[in-house]
Amino acid sequence: MAKTALVTGGSRGIGAAVARRLAADGYQVAVNYAASREKAEALAGEIGGMALQADVSDPVQVKGMVDTVLEKFCQLDILVCNAGVAWQGLLQDMTDGDWRRVMGTDLDGVFYCCRAVLPQMIRQKQGKIVTVSSMWGQVGGACEAAYSAAKAGVIGLTKALAKEVGPSGITVNCVSPGVIDTEMNQALGPQALDQLAEETPLGRLGSAEDVAECVSFLCSPAADFLTGQVLAPNGGLII
Ligand code: NDP
Repeated sequence: MAKTALVTGGSRGIGAAVARRLAADGYQVAVNYAASREKAEALAGEIGGMALQADVSDPVQVKGMVDTVLEKFCQLDILVCNAGVAWQGLLQDMTDGDWRRVMGTDLDGVFYCCRAVLPQMIRQKQGKIVTVSSMWGQVGGACEAAYSAAKAGVIGLTKALAKEVGPSGITVNCVSPGVIDTEMNQALGPQALDQLAEETPLGRLGSAEDVAECVSFLCSPAADFLTGQVLAPNGGLII
């Protein structure tokens, strides 16, 4: 039976590239989405996977999603916690609701997804979890305090969980991308994006596929002795 992967936020951007890459690596892929049903279903059709709606910030929906994957595929080998939202603005202008939305999706969502898959991975005595942080989680971004806090939390959770579940044969690693050319960054506008590309030592923005390559590596047997690590596809923007 083919190994199975669950990619949260797989309908667009980095998550869609990860889903395609893991399918090319031979995994059956469950493509989670929040709102983009058509995109997720088209992608699932393209890669022979399954589209699953669930808001990762809701623990009940996350548990239901993982139960559905297990009913359909009977095993779960890879979890990629990719779903995320950004919020840009001054901290003093941020409402409680804005803060909760970012923390709920970007940090609570990672907790809920890891918690939901672990009983199965522990039963299997193997599994690979890849979380998605951001360079702002490593160095902090002005006007992105909640996002930076959530993404720093993802790195902390990754390291702690790696220690906790390593003895069960499960690895937990993180990818921490730089500026990647997806819808998330479109609000910055072409001028700011060009400037960011110029500031990047490798001279361009990253692509979703650049990040998917890193995820694929962390899910592969080549990474069997890596856990608790942060791999940063950022073109050298932060070193
Ligand atoms: P996009 O905005 O292009 O895509 C976001 C994805 O997350 C969509 O599939 C969306 O689903 C999903 N999503 C959002 N909220 C939820 C939710 N509550 N429950 C389930 N799914 C949800 O973002 P990117 O592809 O650029 O980003 C992917 C990840 O990479 C994020 O965690 C982001 O923080 C991180 N990242 C991105 C960088 C970048 O420069 N782009 C840099 C560093 C990190 P739907 O389509 O259904 O709304």
